[in-house]
Amino acid sequence: MRLISPIANSKTGSSKFPALCRKHEVYYPAQLVQEAFRGRFYAFITSCECSAYLIRTDSDRVRFRGAGDAEGIAAMYADLPGRDVVIRDGRGEFHCKRLPPD
Ligand SMILES: [Zn+2]
Repeated sequence: MRLISPIANSKTGSSKFPALCRKHEVYYPAQLVQEAFRGRFYAFITSCECSAYLIRTDSDRVRFRGAGDAEGIAAMYADLPGRDVVIRDGRGEFHCKRLPPD
């Protein structure tokens, strides 16, 4: 499991990190970084031109939990426990899932 430190962008309120392909970057709201500092973790789906990814936040990092076709990733995401939430940042609406405490 790869650990990635995200880079925050204060202008858009989003953080970016390199995708597993290393050719592209993916984004998520910086608010989720703040949430992680408070011990609240989220899962979300993102993708680049190469693949879809299932990501979860974890303290000051994000973890890739899966990579593959969008359908398979969506199924993995649907299987996760948690509550669906929508976060708005400079890039628009961001759908994610608040994970229950470990
Ligand atoms: Zn890519």
